[in-house]
Amino acid sequence: MAKRIKDNDWKLVPAPESKDHVRIDAEYKLFIGGKWVAPKSGKYLDTINPSSEQRLARVAEADAADVDAAVKAARKAYDTVWSKMPAPERGKYIYRIARLLQEKAREFAVVESMDGGKPIRESRDFDIPVAAAHFFYYAGWADKLQYAFPARNVSPLGVAGQIIPWNFPLLMAAWKIAPALACGNTVVLKPAETTPLTALLLAELIQEAELPDGVVNIVTGAGATGAALVNHPDINKIAFTGSTAVGKLIQRSVAGTGKKLTLELGGKAPNIIFADATIDQAVEGIINGIYFNQGHVCCAGSRLYVEESVHDEVVRKLKHRMKSLVVGDPLDKNTDIGAINSREQLGTINKYIKLGQQEGADMYQSSCDLPGKGFWCRPTLFTNVAQSARITQEEIFGPVLAIQTFRTVDEVIQKANNTPYGLSAGVWTDKGSKIFNLTSKLRAGVIWANTFNKFDPTSPFGGYKESGYGREGGVHGLGAYLNLS
Ligand code: ADP
Repeated sequence: MAKRIKDNDWKLVPAPESKDHVRIDAEYKLFIGGKWVAPKSGKYLDTINPSSEQRLARVAEADAADVDAAVKAARKAYDTVWSKMPAPERGKYIYRIARLLQEKAREFAVVESMDGGKPIRESRDFDIPVAAAHFFYYAGWADKLQYAFPARNVSPLGVAGQIIPWNFPLLMAAWKIAPALACGNTVVLKPAETTPLTALLLAELIQEAELPDGVVNIVTGAGATGAALVNHPDINKIAFTGSTAVGKLIQRSVAGTGKKLTLELGGKAPNIIFADATIDQAVEGIINGIYFNQGHVCCAGSRLYVEESVHDEVVRKLKHRMKSLVVGDPLDKNTDIGAINSREQLGTINKYIKLGQQEGADMYQSSCDLPGKGFWCRPTLFTNVAQSARITQEEIFGPVLAIQTFRTVDEVIQKANNTPYGLSAGVWTDKGSKIFNLTSKLRAGVIWANTFNKFDPTSPFGGYKESGYGREGGVHGLGAYLNLS
């Protein structure tokens, strides 16, 4: 008879990825006009490894004067070089970035996991290859923009200011930089304050690719640096991915300025399991949707709706699978759930876990060992959750799943659509007709059927309602960086 897995009755031999091939400098300046420039204020921020709480590097904190220098460099590069360059030449530079990124993929993956806390399996197999794929994909569009928008006149916008979060540091940089460059814009990018390192490595790679000075500028810092970029008068476009609260602030700041804006904000994705679904496959999809990546994805499947007749089976299988999830060293190849990105984020997640219990839901957590130092959270699920509960309605951004049941299709559509968000959703069923019915009625930008969290550079991504507006990826993503007439 097969042995049942009990909590902690097995151990995997550690399989850490080597750090030997990785170079992280003690200090990083700002990448402006193709050069490394000290911040005018002389101020630096620490970026730490969330799995050890040790400092990895000191990173410059750009103020408004530094941001101004970066925008000036981007404007100069736009006026004198990039907007004048034949489109196939632009494409060649972007291909070069893509190829170099592939060559250095291992180094980028290790640094991503050290700075952000995500498991090496995710950064190695997902973040870095998909980032490279975005550069390849958009490089191909650079000289074909006319074909993307037949019978329209296309021209670049100018200088794009781009602000990105900490959950997919390099991938978000690629999502933003690749289409902007392909369309002929120049860029000032601000990475998140807790995960700046892969964007800074990308700056080094861009130097190696010999991009003309000032085409890509990278300024590090926190919210004030982002705000200085948003408010700079010589920016033509702001692309932001981050929290709904900051997105709303940005929307207010650019109103009436003529700056173009795309916002990719929070999410609270419903993952819907019908009784006719292949349950084992669906359980794996639920685990992938919320626990891998620590739930640090705006499109995480954080609300689970299970058809009543299979609720007990799904929950039993989920709990069983959760027992085998490995929480620990992000650089270990066996790790499923890495470190939470920051102490602050862990505090937010723990606040919601407490709140879920106070709201009367039943909590289950795996009882795996957690490392001593660092920021960790066990995979957690709640059953008997109310639709109005805050753990159902609000984005937690952690490995916390809220489970409800449903009896009819109409009921689940109504419940799934009943949050302020509309970024993504998942449907698991054997019946194609149900998939078509749901996908036309769910108000979400991306809907996965019998899978979850799949990304491809050719597919547009973006939200409804408070999840933002505008699309990134695919041909749609080009439109966000062009004047079309
Ligand atoms: P998260 O909750 O994902 O950290 P934030 O919206 O706080 O989301 O951060 C996303 C990005 O926005 C980060 O790069 C952060 O520094 C930046 N940011 C924070 N506040 C502001 C602001 N007021 N204006 C512009 N950018 C900001």
